[in-house]
Amino acid sequence: MKQNLELLMEMLAALPDPVFILSESGRYVALIGGHDARYYHDGSHLVNFSLHDVLPKELADWFLEQIRQTIEENRLRTVEYALGAHDVKGLELAEGPEQDIWFEGRIQPLSNPVDGERAVVWVARNITERHNMQLQLKNLAELDELTGAYNRRKLMEALEEKFAEFKRYHHPTSLMIFDLDHFKQVNDRFGHIAGDKVLTAMVKLCKKQLRQQDLLCRYGGEEFAVLLPNTDLEEATQLAERLRKTIGQYDYHKELGQAYSITVSAGVSALCSKDKIESLIKRADDGLYQAKASGRNCVIAKSDN
Ligand code: GH3
Ligand code: MG
Ligand code: MG
Repeated sequence: MKQNLELLMEMLAALPDPVFILSESGRYVALIGGHDARYYHDGSHLVNFSLHDVLPKELADWFLEQIRQTIEENRLRTVEYALGAHDVKGLELAEGPEQDIWFEGRIQPLSNPVDGERAVVWVARNITERHNMQLQLKNLAELDELTGAYNRRKLMEALEEKFAEFKRYHHPTSLMIFDLDHFKQVNDRFGHIAGDKVLTAMVKLCKKQLRQQDLLCRYGGEEFAVLLPNTDLEEATQLAERLRKTIGQYDYHKELGQAYSITVSAGVSALCSKDKIESLIKRADDGLYQAKASGRNCVIAKSDN
């Protein structure tokens, strides 16, 4: 019997991932396992402290809510979250991973109360590697390889999302499509690789001008689109003008070995109530076509009438 108990205790201590017992009020009742410093920090000092003693309030509230929900639903729940040693009081100097760790938490309610309180078992597994790989895959699927702008697939996804939001909340949403003027001449004169460098530099330039919320995509060869949330047609046209001027003023000395200016033509449209995504794109495209036809290096805004 004693041997069995010893074996059980040894087995629990050897569990590769940390297993917490957390009470409904947020107290760390016990911590078992998770002793490999390559994956985890030693959190043994946490026992008897409460979540709010050691975590920033927002995080502690979130953990408490997960415990509450698990007890209420009375079933296993799985959550994902990031946590760094700097987030947890007392772990700052502990040996362990330096970067934030991504955890998968598997939370199971206990059927019997612990010290008079309902409680859960919380198994925290380090899934950082998997998480980073997923991020990389997502980036590969969303980004244009050459320029680092988003690709057309991401644009279409974002358009669907913004279109649905527009229908519900009527936030103004605009689209700009622009195309480099006489880009074939750049390739003919400086070569395709130099042309590639121009496209990459131009994307960098645009990103500096755009806001966090704007989505710059490579729409085709040397044609780009910018989805502009919370932006009406007038504001989008101003932004497109600013972008056109900035691009036109850049000298591409670094990319082409000599000063050379490259202009763009652009069309701009804004979502309206009877729109479909296709009609929004078509209006911006029509604007671009007109801009080319009227001499290039200009912006044409197309309203819905
Ligand atoms: P326009 O002002 O009418 O747009 O003239 P353009 O010369 O830019 O237009 P055209 O459609 O005749 O040519 C587009 C050129 O863009 C031809 C193509 O080789 C080049 N291009 C498309 N994608 C890439 C790319 O990834 N890298 C490079 N270097 N060139 C590209
Ligand atoms: Mg062109
Ligand atoms: Mg083109």
